[in-house]
Amino acid sequence: MSSIKDLIAESYLLRRSYVAADLVEAINNLAKHTKVAYKDYTFKSGLEHNGWVVPSDWSVSEAKIYKDNTLIYDGMLHPLSVITQSASFTGKITLQELKKHLYFAPRKPHAIPFHFRLSYRPWQKEWGFCLPKNVFDSLAPGEYDVKLNTTEKPGEMVVREFTIPGKSKETIVFAAHIDHPGMCNDDLAGCAVGVSLLNAIKKQFKKTKYTYKLILVQEIVGSVFYLNALTTEELKNIKYSLFLEMLGNDNTINLQKSFLGNTYIDAVCTTALNSLKNLYRVCSFRESAGNDEIVFEAPGYEIPMPSISRWPYDEYHTSDDNLEIIHEDKLQESLEYLLNIVFILENDVYVKRTFTGIVSLANPKYDLYIDPGQIFTGGLHQNNNATQFQYMMPRLLDGTCKISELAQKFNLDFSWLFNYLNKMKEKGLVLFLEK
Ligand SMILES: [Zn+2]
Repeated sequence: MSSIKDLIAESYLLRRSYVAADLVEAINNLAKHTKVAYKDYTFKSGLEHNGWVVPSDWSVSEAKIYKDNTLIYDGMLHPLSVITQSASFTGKITLQELKKHLYFAPRKPHAIPFHFRLSYRPWQKEWGFCLPKNVFDSLAPGEYDVKLNTTEKPGEMVVREFTIPGKSKETIVFAAHIDHPGMCNDDLAGCAVGVSLLNAIKKQFKKTKYTYKLILVQEIVGSVFYLNALTTEELKNIKYSLFLEMLGNDNTINLQKSFLGNTYIDAVCTTALNSLKNLYRVCSFRESAGNDEIVFEAPGYEIPMPSISRWPYDEYHTSDDNLEIIHEDKLQESLEYLLNIVFILENDVYVKRTFTGIVSLANPKYDLYIDPGQIFTGGLHQNNNATQFQYMMPRLLDGTCKISELAQKFNLDFSWLFNYLNKMKEKGLVLFLEK
């Protein structure tokens, strides 16, 4: 069985620009690790929607800079070394002219930065290299010989959609972006956790209540064309979505809420945080990493899309975003958190009491008393959240509250509360209602 990190390692050095054989190879590499059925959506280069344009199929065959016949820089050694969608250039130029085509990251002098603008602007033709600032600074004055050969040809942008059909057509979409050549955390980490999540759902649930999808997209552009390709019926079925991004670095989990911030999926994601053993963070829409939530939340779609990430991290958008910063335990914790979310979605019901008055929960026939301890032992209210729940629960179980709301209100672990209420149900004290 491969680790999640193995799935990242397999594909991260591929030159995953938006329309490229390397990107499809990365999708296929991930797909090898799941039996969940998929469908590919393809969009031809040049296709336009709302001003967004599908780029050409782009590849690089040679990317060298010489000075006095000595190779100074080989842009084939790392996928970030040539700017994405770069035009070709062959010729002799001065250092001054060459520098206009070189990009580096001042904050990380040894690393190669990510230049991605042209993926979003196919109408703009430029050529360029990305290189470490240390190399840039070492370039001596004089004439340079550039041999940059890239190919642009019509192709197809592939968006892959995996589906686990549920009892209901109501759908939850997980999304992650598969582009970003030569990097791990942003966002092969999200893709790899997404595929592992599909497998975990299949393993844990015989048949789910909701339909679950995972889409592997090209950031923004992939989601724009994917949503545009869905039928009105398919769009109507998507109730909620969740973006999975940068899940392997050494930072705490950050839940970025949806545009409205108070939707059901926001509540579920917030409740699921209670089950994490480590610290976590919560922020509002677009206060953390920005991704395809602006597409899903756009007018006409308005599909709530919180995002889960471990943003920020120092290596972001540079060649330092490599396997060294990816931690298997962080990937596993992210997966566990997402499974908590799915567990809540699958088991969340309204709870309606069958009793009036107050029930003696300590009576052995119920055996449901949550003991607050006794003051003479110094242990009173040792389990404050649960005991508070116990005192207020008779009034709250009126059929208008879901388990997730109660868990959130009392800061309780959802599965603990679910098990407790399930026992109440077995004793005939409550009913579980879907609506
Ligand atoms: Zn990025």
